[in-house]
Amino acid sequence: MSNLRNVSFNDLFAEVKRRYECTKRPAMNVIMIGPPGSGKGTQGPKIKDDLCVCHLATGDMLREAVAKGTELGKQAGDIMKRGDLVPDELVIGLIENNLSNPECERGVLLDGFPRTAVQAEKLDQMFVSKQMSIDRVLEFAVDEDVLGERIEGRRIHQASGRSYHLKFNPPKVEGKDDATGEPLMHRKDDTREALGKRMASYHRDTKPILDYYRQHGNLRTFNATAPIKEVEGHIEKALYSNMI
Ligand code: ADP
Ligand code: ADP
Repeated sequence: MSNLRNVSFNDLFAEVKRRYECTKRPAMNVIMIGPPGSGKGTQGPKIKDDLCVCHLATGDMLREAVAKGTELGKQAGDIMKRGDLVPDELVIGLIENNLSNPECERGVLLDGFPRTAVQAEKLDQMFVSKQMSIDRVLEFAVDEDVLGERIEGRRIHQASGRSYHLKFNPPKVEGKDDATGEPLMHRKDDTREALGKRMASYHRDTKPILDYYRQHGNLRTFNATAPIKEVEGHIEKALYSNMI
């Protein structure tokens, strides 16, 4: 939307209407936490559109840096391929640099961050200094047996981070992104071997953060093993109902 003259009237009107609808919803800062393959990247775009917030996905940002061959990408590429976590200071820097984007004015949707206690503490500090609050933490609770098939069949559109699945969420045209028609790719770390490491790190580094958010009363846990549409419903309830 950078040059509005080139946007068709219908597209522009639809966008204005969507943003108007957003103003009727509460402004919110939301964190998504769940193991690899639990559905964060699939549900993220819908939550982002519904709430008119920015979607900050550290995995997508890091993959972009790797693809562009930036200094950050050079530091992160091999670590990611192995399924290990990249150093805290690198991802914290990414979030810090993006939190003030105009797109984040109404709130942020954090995807894949925080993943360690250090990141969670640093996020708290950033939010306090910007007078922001964490309104919801969404826990994607999933039966781990389904994750191997999910990540092996996952295909992504690199530029946008849009996530598809060969069987569970196929694109309209095989191998192509629905919105742009560009080719889809299989992530280098979407192997059973790297998944094992990523699950170990999820249990060791990330799960303890959930206890912290549970104590603060903003954690909402739902069944993410359910089909995609059903998970959408769980998320709506988690976002808009005040019941824990
Ligand atoms: P998934 O969606 O499968 O959970 P992501 O796309 O979020 O995976 O992340 C891919 C990889 O990027 C991780 O395995 C890790 O190497 C790196 N990464 C992403 N976010 C973080 C983070 N917050 N801290 C450390 N490493 C991260
Ligand atoms: P994450 O971002 O948490 O790593 P994704 O959203 O990329 O996970 O989902 C992993 C894979 O599983 C993708 O191929 C996606 O299409 C598929 N998927 C996501 N949610 C579901 C679901 N509820 N049921 C079946 N497949 C799913």
